[in-house]
Amino acid sequence: MSSNHNLLSKLPSMTVLLQQSDVMELCEKYPESFVQARLRKVLDNVRSDILSGWISAQKGLPEIDFYVCQTEALIKRDLSNRIQFAVNGTGVILHTGLGRAALSSSAQEALSEAAARYSILATNRETGKRGDRNSHNDDLLCDLTGAEASLVVNNNSAAVMLALNTFGEGRESIISRGELVEIGGSFRVPDVMRRSGTVMVEVGTTNRTHLRDYEEAVTDATSVLLKVHPSNYRIEGFHKEVAIRELCDLAKERNLIIIHDIGSGALVDLRQWGLDYEPTVQAALSEGADIVTFSGDKMLGGPQCGIIVGRRDLIEVMKTNPLMRAFRCGKLTLSALNGTLRLFLDPEKLPETHPIYAMIAAPVEIVRSRARKIIRKLKEIENGMAAVEIADGITEMGSGSLPARGIPSSLVVLTPDGLSAEKFSSALRMSDYPLFTRIENDRVVIDARTVADDEISWIVKAVAQVAEVKS
Ligand SMILES: *Cc1c(COP(=O)(O)O)cnc(C)c1O
Repeated sequence: MSSNHNLLSKLPSMTVLLQQSDVMELCEKYPESFVQARLRKVLDNVRSDILSGWISAQKGLPEIDFYVCQTEALIKRDLSNRIQFAVNGTGVILHTGLGRAALSSSAQEALSEAAARYSILATNRETGKRGDRNSHNDDLLCDLTGAEASLVVNNNSAAVMLALNTFGEGRESIISRGELVEIGGSFRVPDVMRRSGTVMVEVGTTNRTHLRDYEEAVTDATSVLLKVHPSNYRIEGFHKEVAIRELCDLAKERNLIIIHDIGSGALVDLRQWGLDYEPTVQAALSEGADIVTFSGDKMLGGPQCGIIVGRRDLIEVMKTNPLMRAFRCGKLTLSALNGTLRLFLDPEKLPETHPIYAMIAAPVEIVRSRARKIIRKLKEIENGMAAVEIADGITEMGSGSLPARGIPSSLVVLTPDGLSAEKFSSALRMSDYPLFTRIENDRVVIDARTVADDEISWIVKAVAQVAEVKS
């Protein structure tokens, strides 16, 4: 411990560091306080390395150059785009950690038009007065889903929260025990219900809920029947749930509002590409739900947002909820959504116009030839660090969409030599071409289905960079 303290007292002072000619140059280029803050961070890191014993008296303190280089690296990092692109080799199409959907060019164009200039976002052009920012997507959403009206908020969680708060606050909302689901950590139906201010009334059992369970639970205080799609798992075997259609008479008789959170919000029937059926928004509405909520960045493949469609009178009430101000979307989101929705007017073309549907629809032979191409290019570079081969595999939809069945795919399998798969995949992530892979049986796997053709060269560069550092 004492030798550690000895080291601490030998750390260069800020004054000494600021007198280094390289640092003085940095201070001419950038504000001094900006440079100083980064110098301080580097010093702090060295200090905690001393305290943790990582830097010992034996190893000695780093040279002055080290502080300067580290500071330069931090400056470079902080002045570049921190939300860097990533190459998704994980085989999870809607990867929440990687930003879920890659946007279509239609969405990108709409987004950049809105970003670069003023827009008519919340203005009524005719009168010049304040207009409704939701009007721009309303026609399309109603056309595509058959709804009377729509409303867009920050994500589906906000959509559910807004609907429950508007119609269930201080009243009872009934939900089946089979639908008290958790969707990725922070979205847990009981928690969301509690926070919305509604009183949760659970009915039925985990695997079976009957219409009479709902009927017996309705009281004068009941205002909502909530149904939640168990997006990320399936109950098989002895199982019964009550369809919305069966709840309609009860809702009408007792004046209740049926809210259906369908989660992934497919607008097209996914069976045409060999996937499992995922309830479409249109189907959920035609079953008789008053309000349907879904995500904008799951099967829609748009920007992060939550979409509420349903009865016009109810949507109008939701718009007046003070939470709406906190939940409303900005122009970037609403524009990107608009660019995305337009593609669904021509659903046959989706595999050409929408990157998510291109990934879903690509025949496995095409994916396999992409995997072969990656392997060919990897064999061209100096890569003494990993054996490369091809294998069959499965791509997942991700984000709690379609858990049951994946899509057949083709994998590039790297077996690293003298390095663990974890270390190798971490180095690939940290390269200048951040490549995300998955690990299977101690090998690093790149799923060719979630990789775009123009990303192949980046994969090669990422591997080359790791190989170079290692050699
Ligand atoms: C994904 C999902 C949510 C959460 O949606 P976000 O847009 O991620 O907030 C809520 N409910 C269901 C059923 C879901 O599948």
